[in-house]
Amino acid sequence: MIKLKTEEEIAILRENALMVSKTLAEVGRHIEPGITTKELDGIAEKFIRSMGAVPGFLGFEGFPGTLCMSVNDVVVHGFPSAYKLKEGDIVSVDCGTIYRGYYGDSAYTFPVGKVAPRVRQLLDATRQSLEEGIAQAVAGNRTGDIGAAVQSYCEGLGFSVVRELVGHGVGTSMHESPEVPNYGRHGHGVKLREGMVICIEPMINAGHKEVYLDENGWAVHTADGMPSAHFEKTVVVRHGKAEVLTTYEFIEKQTC
Ligand code: MG
Ligand code: MG
Repeated sequence: MIKLKTEEEIAILRENALMVSKTLAEVGRHIEPGITTKELDGIAEKFIRSMGAVPGFLGFEGFPGTLCMSVNDVVVHGFPSAYKLKEGDIVSVDCGTIYRGYYGDSAYTFPVGKVAPRVRQLLDATRQSLEEGIAQAVAGNRTGDIGAAVQSYCEGLGFSVVRELVGHGVGTSMHESPEVPNYGRHGHGVKLREGMVICIEPMINAGHKEVYLDENGWAVHTADGMPSAHFEKTVVVRHGKAEVLTTYEFIEKQTC
């Protein structure tokens, strides 16, 4: 069942999205060669709690961190660890909050120092494909319109779309209906209605689309070992144009 949100609920989801947006920027401010993903996780947890919210991922189905920290060939769901980031890495930081009974959920993939040109292209393409998807998140369209937009943009640049993981509705649960795949066909899938709140989150590989699950049962790796990028925003389906709850302005203000 798809729960349409009231404006009161959307207001709370907007607050959550703002907190996640600010947390991602706080983490981004500390990303540099030598810092561990575990240290960054601690920074995020402290920051989230300082705003009166609770980390949304910590303990979720047993997940051990506040952030999913997915480095290079890890697509998503990496554990924060003693791994020290190094120049040329990319790290997907996926962050969740719980505040007033609702979830926030967004992600951004950061370069660590200078990255290879093709990796920079992967980041730019994944980030832009998210915007292409968001442009389709309007009432009357279908989830397939979002997926098709993401897929055609990324494949047009020679990148591939992970199939095993998808975007989702969000509300009092982190993962609600509908599923929002990053691939698909225009005119297919679930019809979008005003008041649906969804997370669109392209997971795009530099090489082939195949992935495998780490023996820890969480981290998803690219099968060919090539890098993968991940960007995620929470949006409200509206008539004419989606309302985007997540903002990257705090991140990009400090890095550009
Ligand atoms: Mg997420
Ligand atoms: Mg998500």
